[in-house]
Amino acid sequence: MAYEFDLFVIGGGSAGVRCGRIAAGHGARVAVAEERFWGGICVNVGCIPKKLMAQAAEYGAWAEDARGFGWDISKGPHDWAAFVGAKDREIARLSNVYRKVLEGAGATIFEAHASFIDPHTLELGGRRVTAERIVIATGGHPERPALPGAEHGIVSDAAFYLPGLPERVVILGGGYIGAEFAGIFKGLGAEVHMVYRQPLPLRGFDEDLRAALAEAMEAEGIRLHPSAIIAEVRADGASRVALLSDGAELQADLVFFAIGRRPNVAGLGLEQAGVALDPFGAVIVDAEMRTNQAHIHAIGDVTDRLNLTPVATAEGHALADRLFGSGPREWNFANVPTAVFSAPPLATVGLTEAVAAARGPVEIYIARFTPLRHHLTGRRRQTLMKLVVDQASQRVLGAHMLGEEAPEIVQGLAVALTCGATKADLDRTIGIHPTAAEEFVTMRTRTRLAGVARAAE
Ligand code: FAD
Repeated sequence: MAYEFDLFVIGGGSAGVRCGRIAAGHGARVAVAEERFWGGICVNVGCIPKKLMAQAAEYGAWAEDARGFGWDISKGPHDWAAFVGAKDREIARLSNVYRKVLEGAGATIFEAHASFIDPHTLELGGRRVTAERIVIATGGHPERPALPGAEHGIVSDAAFYLPGLPERVVILGGGYIGAEFAGIFKGLGAEVHMVYRQPLPLRGFDEDLRAALAEAMEAEGIRLHPSAIIAEVRADGASRVALLSDGAELQADLVFFAIGRRPNVAGLGLEQAGVALDPFGAVIVDAEMRTNQAHIHAIGDVTDRLNLTPVATAEGHALADRLFGSGPREWNFANVPTAVFSAPPLATVGLTEAVAAARGPVEIYIARFTPLRHHLTGRRRQTLMKLVVDQASQRVLGAHMLGEEAPEIVQGLAVALTCGATKADLDRTIGIHPTAAEEFVTMRTRTRLAGVARAAE
């Protein structure tokens, strides 16, 4: 049967745009549908505006810190409208770049909702198109808790379009989005409470990093409520009261739910195509991003695995190469680095101590120090660096850092881990002085041994 397109991509986010662009570049007849905003979550209501907001928050601290270096910079009030206007212009520019890149590659674009009519046919705003292969790249959406008064709170999408800075913010959720917005609102001048179910924020990250983040957030003046949840939200005009499971009552102007994200599969007509989902609603794929229907693929957050933009784009690129190119580019999905743009930020690559120690004996190296600049500013900001090293092979299994520039530093270490660097390789690397980063190549004394051989030593 002759199809209109060789490849139809549903979703113009990080994953879909990369897949469509590369496939079109290989000569395939490609179409991409986007129903909301080109560039998806990352560009419009995710990574990019979030990072700009974190940078806006940092400037306030820099104005205060400059005094330690002899500058008299008056902080003044933050101009929310001016900042949001600048941010929105940049987001509009970037979103347009994503659209143009696709058009430039020769892809046909549809600005409409796409849904399956049958395994090879899609409906787009009343029009039907057929494609030999279809890629589901529909991403995810923020989840809202099922608690009384949940309608009085917002989720992350709305956090980018607030009319002004709320004076008192209560955040539910200790994941990376909660931690990042806690730093953003605090840095911009709000009173911030973060409520989370676990004893420490950032479940799944290294325990030392989690503890260091909790300490750092408290040092920044963020009020932490561990091992608690919001049981109810009450509204009184524009004011909110968050009632916590531990009995506390927090007054707020904004209640922000950051409890997780769900794949976008509703309204896609996946049942018409016979595409299987896991119990949490994510599209199930194999190692080659194929669903249970051999001609239908899924990439990015809709598969709910490593929900990060660089992973989504790598999956899209690899899939387009595999289907239409001469061979897929290879990525190392085993050591995916990631950052949390909290205040201060943190970044991590490889295994946590707990995961590594469960596999065998590991040597742990930890450095904690006050960055040079803060000896002058007096700001209570500590840096933590940690290496997890396999005792037998001496390979570095994990590198973790909390502190200024952590995301920039750990990106380089991720290359080292991808190349299989050993502790001796780091030790023979000359540092750049004076930096915080040099600490990663000068950690000589083992802090402890962990894992199965600990008892034997
Ligand atoms: P999306 O970006 O969600 O794109 C999917 C697109 O499909 C959307 O544009 C949607 O409108 C469209 N769509 C859905 N259904 C249909 C349909 N039926 N028809 C047509 N179009 C449809 N990742 C990082 O790596 N670093 C970060 O710092 C970071 N920060 C984040 C901060 C926040 C607040 C959030 C929410 C996420 C953040 N992420 C970050 C995660 C990152 O944004 C996602 O991993 C990434 O956007 C996934 O890309 P995707 O293409 O799979 O999905």
